[in-house]
Amino acid sequence: METKYCQSCAMPMGETDAEYGTEKDGSKSKDYCRYCYENGAFTFHGTIDEMIDICIPPMVENNPGMTKEDALKIMKEYLPTLKRWKEA
Ligand SMILES: [Zn+2]
Repeated sequence: METKYCQSCAMPMGETDAEYGTEKDGSKSKDYCRYCYENGAFTFHGTIDEMIDICIPPMVENNPGMTKEDALKIMKEYLPTLKRWKEA
């Protein structure tokens, strides 16, 4: 099975739906994590560049050897392909 990523911030979602956000009716979102999406709405309303800025520190922290520049390059290439940003 392929790894799924949040379609807003690119966080890996793991094997269960525990990291997924919720829809208005309380069901789990199929696309977005609980940090980005709650009760049927995005919790983050900034631009894609602001999202990238927020994502860089945890990426560097979670990937030993990755520099800020590496993380920035990856996010600049990857985030625009995600559902949330593609539609904008
Ligand atoms: Zn997310």
